[in-house]
Amino acid sequence: MKDLTINPAIPITLPEMFEGRHLINGAWQSSASGETFERRSPSHGHVVSRSALGGEAEAEAAIAAARTAFDSGIWSRASGKDRATVLLKVADLIEQNVDRIAVIETLESGKPISQSKGEVGGAADLWRYAASLARSTHGDSHNTLGADMMGLVLKEPIGVVSIITPWNFPFWILSQKLPFALAAGCTAVVKPSEMTPSTTLMLGELLIEAGLPAGVCNIVLGYGQPVGGTLSSHEAVDMVSFTGSTTVGKTISKTASDTLKKVALELGGKNPQVIFPDANLDSAADAVVFGVYFNVGQCCNSSSRIIVHEDIAQAFADKVIALSRKVKFGDPLDPSTQVGAIVTPEHNAKIDSYVKEARSAGATIALGGDPLNVEGLGNQFYQPTIITNVQPDMPIARDEVFGPVLSVLTFKTLDEAIEIMNDSALGLSAGVWSENVHTCLDFARRAQAGTVWTNTWMDGFPEVAFGGYKQSGQGREIGQYGFEEFFEVKSVVMRIGDSRAPWVPQD
Ligand code: NAD
Repeated sequence: MKDLTINPAIPITLPEMFEGRHLINGAWQSSASGETFERRSPSHGHVVSRSALGGEAEAEAAIAAARTAFDSGIWSRASGKDRATVLLKVADLIEQNVDRIAVIETLESGKPISQSKGEVGGAADLWRYAASLARSTHGDSHNTLGADMMGLVLKEPIGVVSIITPWNFPFWILSQKLPFALAAGCTAVVKPSEMTPSTTLMLGELLIEAGLPAGVCNIVLGYGQPVGGTLSSHEAVDMVSFTGSTTVGKTISKTASDTLKKVALELGGKNPQVIFPDANLDSAADAVVFGVYFNVGQCCNSSSRIIVHEDIAQAFADKVIALSRKVKFGDPLDPSTQVGAIVTPEHNAKIDSYVKEARSAGATIALGGDPLNVEGLGNQFYQPTIITNVQPDMPIARDEVFGPVLSVLTFKTLDEAIEIMNDSALGLSAGVWSENVHTCLDFARRAQAGTVWTNTWMDGFPEVAFGGYKQSGQGREIGQYGFEEFFEVKSVVMRIGDSRAPWVPQD
């Protein structure tokens, strides 16, 4: 404990409790039942928000509003220019409200304030990029089908999209989906996680201010059941776009199959960084530390396992341990903090049980390995933890632990590294560290992962598609590929002139 860097609580006045209501057809509404639920800050323990608890009635009303808005054509048939104008205005408003939104994001999620500001401010760029797509959408024309024929392939908005989001990046993940759906002309019903509902509502306020017509984006607050279940089963919904755990993703896929609605899934990861002896080891060690502690490891892209060449494994682990001691854990409201709180006490206990199980199975806890008590805030934190002597079949090496816990595995040859990497049900992202371009290219082509980073980690851009192989997901998000998910494709085949030969024999 003494050799870690811990930021104790700073004296600060916490904001007033945020009161959240559903946004349905342009109006803020309480639940018919009058019921509410509260979110307590994982770091500070006080009640950050009280939200209306949605049920089937609210989910149905929101879907009906989105359906009516879509069918009216007010948004689905608006010009790309008009849609882009609204999206650009939303981007400006997000930037004007970063501080206000970021404090609530930090208090509900436990993440450091600097990262909340980065997440919210950075999301504006996703809205701007989506605005550019709204104006450049086009299909195909076929002008070589013969002198009397012409074909058009039109892109049309898929319809009403249910958007269900997790707690770990509530504002960012919503912004990876909603502006793209809106740019395509869809209408939406959004259900944020019950743990982080408020910043989605703050975005809802900005959508209204930007002039988005009533009913085009609706927000329903509440739990997976019944709200999420209704959003994924309802006949009037055309697509579900979900980010969350692989377990819930499978449930949604089954639920949605009754109506054969389209399903896009962004799920969990067990993402390796593979380190070769010829790599820039200082840079690799820094990226490993960033990869495992960013968002307290509660990140789909968490690099929770590294696979290091055995010749350098001990020296590299020592570098990572030395850097880990310098990372600032503690009060998320301290601007210098890099790693904040764990989302719930239950999740903290789950992380701890993975660590203790690994130790019982023969792995070595080289750093940390216990919950962390932060002076003035309590113990819903976890120590930076590095586990060596990990075998590929241990749960700590295979499951998404979702905490600041790094498993260190070793390899002898590139083939062995690739075998260990790909021996996983998940395939979200992977990284390679080597100064040899051939090693990097070979690795990139053989990795079963939706994103491969070479000599970097977790760099992303609105232009570049994101998603998972295997059980890490279905479909893609952001970039042109992500945008395309929100369209139906319609072929229009046209005859020019009266050249059609009769099918029925002529007398
Ligand atoms: P979760 O699956 O528990 O919940 C996600 C959302 O689904 C919440 O809004 C929840 O209320 C809702 N939900 C729960 N049960 C449901 C049901 N039966 N039907 C419909 N909706 C339901 O996930 P979480 O704990 O909030 O988030 C952490 C998980 O998300 C991790 O597994 C992480 O890897 C994953 N994640 C993936 C990405 C990605 O882009 N691949 C990004 C962030 C998080």
